[in-house]
Amino acid sequence: MRPARLDPLFASLTSLKGVGGKLEGLYKRLLDTEGPPRVVDLLFHLPSGVIDRRARPTLAEAVPGAIVTVEVLIERHRPSPPGKSRAPYRVQVSDETGDLTLVWFNAHRSRIEQMCPVGETRIVSGRIELFDGMRQMVHPDRVMTPEQAATMPLIEPVYPLTEGLASGFVRRAAEAALQRLPKLPEWLDARLLDRENWPDFAAALNRVHAPAEPEDFAPEGPAWSRLAYDELLANQLALGLVRANLKRPAGRRNVGDGSLRGMIEAALPFALTGSQMRALAEIAADMSAETRMLRLLQGDVGSGKTVVALMAMAAAAEAGRQSALMAPTELLARQHAKTLKTLAGPSGLEVAILTGREKGREREQILGRLASGDTAIVVGTHALFQEHVIFRDLGLAVIDEQHRFGVHQRLALAAKGEAVDLLVMTATPIPRTLVLTYFGDMESSQLTEKPAGRKPIDTRIVAMDRLGDVIDGIGRALEAGRQVYWVCPLVAENDDPTVESPELAAAEERFELLRQRFGEAVDLVHGQMKGPDKDAAMLRFQRGDTRVLVATTVIEVGVDVPEASIMVIDHAEHFGLAQLHQLRGRIGRGETASTCLLLYKGPLGETARRRLDIMRETEDGFRIAEEDLKLRGEGDLLGTKQSGMPGFRLARLEHHAHLLETARSDARLVIETDPKLAGPRGEALRDLLYLFGRDEAIRLVKAG
Ligand code: ADP
Ligand code: MG
Repeated sequence: MRPARLDPLFASLTSLKGVGGKLEGLYKRLLDTEGPPRVVDLLFHLPSGVIDRRARPTLAEAVPGAIVTVEVLIERHRPSPPGKSRAPYRVQVSDETGDLTLVWFNAHRSRIEQMCPVGETRIVSGRIELFDGMRQMVHPDRVMTPEQAATMPLIEPVYPLTEGLASGFVRRAAEAALQRLPKLPEWLDARLLDRENWPDFAAALNRVHAPAEPEDFAPEGPAWSRLAYDELLANQLALGLVRANLKRPAGRRNVGDGSLRGMIEAALPFALTGSQMRALAEIAADMSAETRMLRLLQGDVGSGKTVVALMAMAAAAEAGRQSALMAPTELLARQHAKTLKTLAGPSGLEVAILTGREKGREREQILGRLASGDTAIVVGTHALFQEHVIFRDLGLAVIDEQHRFGVHQRLALAAKGEAVDLLVMTATPIPRTLVLTYFGDMESSQLTEKPAGRKPIDTRIVAMDRLGDVIDGIGRALEAGRQVYWVCPLVAENDDPTVESPELAAAEERFELLRQRFGEAVDLVHGQMKGPDKDAAMLRFQRGDTRVLVATTVIEVGVDVPEASIMVIDHAEHFGLAQLHQLRGRIGRGETASTCLLLYKGPLGETARRRLDIMRETEDGFRIAEEDLKLRGEGDLLGTKQSGMPGFRLARLEHHAHLLETARSDARLVIETDPKLAGPRGEALRDLLYLFGRDEAIRLVKAG
């Protein structure tokens, strides 16, 4: 049970003055919460900057474009002419150095008259701009009397906003939220606080939301650092508790006799690579140990993780237990299911699929065979950890592309069985620090060799001017019987307001162009298509019915068509390095030597150029990951939108990475000395876990 002292922070945001029910939806979008936004969510929504009103320039000194605070005399009002209410309401003001026009659209005349009495002095804050050579300020942030100004904060936070929510609203709501902060017991070690000179939690939040100096708000400053540390500690502690719990002797050793694995391996059309065999040995050792397996399988795209997963699942089956493989997308789940069915065929193991699309009787049947144990292996999406999915005896959970799932989802799947072993597969070669951040202290197996017989991919950088030549080249390749992926960054008519360039190649447009030239051989697949349509398009391409597949990045993860040996990446300069690498991994899987054309529209910026050059120079995923880290910062490595770390609201890796090590050893010490979080610091740390939504770990402490 959450301690009652935290209740004010977990109250609905609408309980704050000024946050009416109407605004709840906007706040939900702004704060990106799963459920209704709560007070704590707003407190963790830190300002993106501050307005510094300490400078008081004269009008002549004020730099156009800057936010300034000026002291002016109200000269005269110029209301909108009658019947023309859409024209702005203007107020002329001045100081001894010049004039300024204050401008309001859709204004309440009476409010402005009240706010700006002619002949009086007012302190006005806002952005000064030049309009027709005249200074003006549209919708001043503040119009204050000198007395009011004396009590105004000189430094005011500015918040990231969403459409429909004005800055003043968010600021006032944040002020109200700060009032709700209860006095909480300190969860940080006194010596650490002392050494770092950090304020307590409430003071830190007050400082970043209501800074007295711009420095109060700096990410490296004591206030924000403390909050970032809190978050990192909560994360490390939760991961540590999860791990301590999962690693507890399970009392079930999954020892197989190798019979099913033998059948599968004998029927493989290839020999396992050395690193596949090593990984399998490590996995088998973990599974047959008394403790639960918690292992990461890292391997570049095409390094052959799937067959390793299958062999692990076969080992579980030999020990009489079931396995589940969870994929991040339905497309990928289907792909896996198909591959596994084929490869598992000789062993007679039953492979089923379960996603949101299996419905009605079909679903009932699948669930029935899972419950009875007839199905040895099930592949699926999130649908797998819904409540009514019951296994007879789940022994192994394999999770593909883990970074898209949170710890709690991992737990949810693990909770479907007794002492479930966990294998997490990822194609992103993740540097060690990040492995620890996201996965805790997991063991890791790496597939470093490419399967034998793989030919290097010839990667070329081609300017968009040569599109015609490229298409001619595709024509020759098609005549030679080859298949082509043509990847575009976006589909047409994307109404996402964040799209920067209307020039982005639209997949649909490209599709039309290629269709004109190559006719029915060209097909299109994109993310806005319905599941079955998408699958059908993929299937046509897989069977070779279509020869050119124009695609958005939906094909990024996991689709396997070994016959496709050419990939064109349209507007390659718009893709990140990790993404380019993932995409390119779709080719180079078959007999024919493959070619990847990175089609760019110039002029290229330095970073974009560097990215494309790296792609041409190497196929080594670990090297590419390192370069990516250098070029883009760590947040982007895992393909997240924002610069922050995925799943983190306050910590920014570029500013706070140095705190990670301390947080990790801090958490380890806590788990060693007070694994039940029962001591005084333990009690306080429970608050911390609740605040950062890591309270699933507390349930584990209780259960254990
Ligand atoms: P990923 O690691 O990207 O998931 P996959 O498991 O999809 O890679 O494997 C890519 C391709 O390589 C598949 O077609 C698979 O059958 C093949 N493959 C896997 N292991 C080997 C091997 N040892 N030798 C040759 N081909 C292999
Ligand atoms: Mg894969």
